[in-house]
Amino acid sequence: MQIPDITLYGAHWCPDCRRSKMFLGEHQIPYNWVDIEQDSAAEQFVIEKNGGKRIIPTILFGDGSHLVEPSNAQLAAKLGLVTSARKAFYPLIVIGGGPAGLTAALYAGREAVDTLVIERAAYGGQAAATEKLDNMPGFPDGIAGIEFAGRLRAQAERFGVELLQAQDVTQVTSHDNYHVVHTASGAEYACTALLIASGSRYRRLGAPGERDYIGAGIHFCATCDGPFYKGKHVVVVGGGNSAAEESLLLTKFAEKVTVLVRGDAFKASPVIVESVLGDPKIAVRFHTEVAEFLGKGGKMNRLRLRDSQSGGESEMAADGAFIFIGLDPNTGFLADSGVRANEWGFLITGHDLVHDESQRPAGYEKRPPMVLETSIPGIFAAGDVRHGSTKQVASATGEGATAALLIREYLKLV
Ligand SMILES: Cc1cc2nc3c(=O)[nH]c(=O)nc-3n(C[C@H](O)[C@H](O)[C@H](O)COP(=O)(O)OP(=O)(O)OC[C@H]3O[C@@H](n4cnc5c(N)ncnc54)[C@H](O)[C@@H]3O)c2cc1C
Repeated sequence: MQIPDITLYGAHWCPDCRRSKMFLGEHQIPYNWVDIEQDSAAEQFVIEKNGGKRIIPTILFGDGSHLVEPSNAQLAAKLGLVTSARKAFYPLIVIGGGPAGLTAALYAGREAVDTLVIERAAYGGQAAATEKLDNMPGFPDGIAGIEFAGRLRAQAERFGVELLQAQDVTQVTSHDNYHVVHTASGAEYACTALLIASGSRYRRLGAPGERDYIGAGIHFCATCDGPFYKGKHVVVVGGGNSAAEESLLLTKFAEKVTVLVRGDAFKASPVIVESVLGDPKIAVRFHTEVAEFLGKGGKMNRLRLRDSQSGGESEMAADGAFIFIGLDPNTGFLADSGVRANEWGFLITGHDLVHDESQRPAGYEKRPPMVLETSIPGIFAAGDVRHGSTKQVASATGEGATAALLIREYLKLV
């Protein structure tokens, strides 16, 4: 796909402008943003383009053409994204084009299993949004997340995998021996085996500045990004188990770790809390919220903090901030599918489904579920979306490969 030179004319209050910006951002398509309320020449340009009307968003493309208030589907078509599949039925459909989904797809494609991947945003998932993957085996100097994503995609394409983009899966239904994937655009695709590799999202604080500095001082994974902060001061935001555990891990790298807890106590296991409170490298500030992330030269370097009791504000310098306030799986589209999830929505697979024989899912009377198979025979799960996964790129690709090999066996059974 050729990346066009795009200028988006809009205003900060305009919801359709935000939607178009989000669409371009999620698909990693660079664009120039012009707020016409701050730029009278731009406002005049928009009025001229629209026959005297001030309609936003107006989006100008490198070829001189423009779209006015486009829907996401119109934008996708203009950008040349492939949004509909060649066939209605596939032996394997993969939901999600992150590391797990693309690896499964390239394995399946290489074995001549006709495979369709459906992705709602840019290929590469969270990995593509990662500035640098420093712990991916085989890349001794690290690799930019976007480059890694591009390589995975190219490899899947080389093996004949069909890739859809800008298609949001909204529902999955299962029938005797096949499953149907429904998308927001109204399309339906059926398959014999389905792999759910839709990943998860780190919860964000929503504080001003957060979006600007993600990957540039703001992080969500200590294992991934902690080593960049050797000898530095980092802040950890959160008061649960993961915040407590990750602050201990960060002391292996950082000189000083300040943990910001909104309430008056940790909501974590007492043993871990004891270790945190007793660690000489860790300082804990209770009743403290982040009001804003601030920075210089494109890098976060301090935070504006608010005392949640008094409302008083102060600034704190920090080299990095790690936010650990939870992780949500992308599983909303499975609400009525019968695929079992744990209490947080992560999908249960394999042995975990049959630990308690009285809970054995229907359809597994003659064989147990395969390691990455869900409670519905023929529907598999891999990567971050799966209960028990380790939320790393290397393990997501490993699970993707394993899922593809299991699916190969499953396809022989049906
Ligand atoms: C900022 C950041 C930095 C990280 N740094 C590192 C690191 O340095 N090293 C490391 O090992 N790991 C890192 N991780 C974690 C790593 O990126 C993930 O563990 C990995 O990407 C998980 O892969 P996945 O394929 O399971 O899921 P994801 O990468 O989440 O991919 C899932 C895909 O499914 C798509 N999708 C979701 N729902 C739907 C739907 N309804 N319809 C269609 N498509 C859908 C999503 O758009 C996404 O592209 C980082 C994560 C983040 C957020």
